[in-house]
Amino acid sequence: MYRSTPADVLVKATAANNTIRALAVVTTGVAEEARDRHQTAPTATAALGRVMTAGLLIGSMMKEEEQLSIQFMGSGPLQGVVIDANAKGEVRGFVYQPRAHLPIKNGKLDVGGVVGKGTMAVVRRQHWDKEPYRSVLPIVSGEIGQDIANYLLTSEQIPSAVSLGVFVQPDEVVSAAGGFIIQAMPDAEDATLARIEEAVAQTRPVSQMVRDGLAAWDILRQVLANFSPTLLDETPVRFVCRCSRERVQGIIVALGAEEVERLLEQEGRISAACEFCAEQYTIGSEEARALVAEAQG
Ligand SMILES: [Zn+2]
Repeated sequence: MYRSTPADVLVKATAANNTIRALAVVTTGVAEEARDRHQTAPTATAALGRVMTAGLLIGSMMKEEEQLSIQFMGSGPLQGVVIDANAKGEVRGFVYQPRAHLPIKNGKLDVGGVVGKGTMAVVRRQHWDKEPYRSVLPIVSGEIGQDIANYLLTSEQIPSAVSLGVFVQPDEVVSAAGGFIIQAMPDAEDATLARIEEAVAQTRPVSQMVRDGLAAWDILRQVLANFSPTLLDETPVRFVCRCSRERVQGIIVALGAEEVERLLEQEGRISAACEFCAEQYTIGSEEARALVAEAQG
């Protein structure tokens, strides 16, 4: 049977008489774009996709102008994952070792192993001139979902069920990715919370739900079937980077004439790659010299 692939969309909902906040997102396109840009191996793809998915979910709860960064720095072969996200459904990210990969463990990609032990940091910035809010925690399992739940409980004092998943095909392409966060508001009853935890534990992996063609709202309706969920909002999400040719030109100006000449002597041009999106920028010798000369007036 043919099933259409659900779109990359984030939904917000409430349940159990507004005592539960729920968010779900499908990130198949986002995770596949990141894989394609960075040419990551399957375990690295899953780690990056899960952190980007978490970034979109947490980002969607922030103020519109706020910026979110999540970093995992671990002892595993991946070395680290860094993502930026915002409340507008935009995310970008990279890993330090794109080809990091481990043998399948218990039938699953060994994300915990590839990340390893270490620390995770969540940085939330409201305005560039204000001190960012920074939270650093030890990595719990490196499986990402558990680590994000630990962050939400420890740093934001919100008990949360977090599920994140990325399905990577044998040809390394991402064919399904997504996640959800279900949170108990302060007035939620303990019994509701326990029943939700039970419901979450009984659901299929979120990547499986996306593979089966469930859209973001379908996922929440399924997980919260007994809690009368109400859809509040629906937004598309995408991989977006802030880099540009203008920024690279600005860096060349900042390098100064001497350094620019030194680089041109070596390669005849100046090349730079954006670490977040792997975009390659090449500035020829003529353009580089003109930029420096113009800056010197
Ligand atoms: Zn970029």
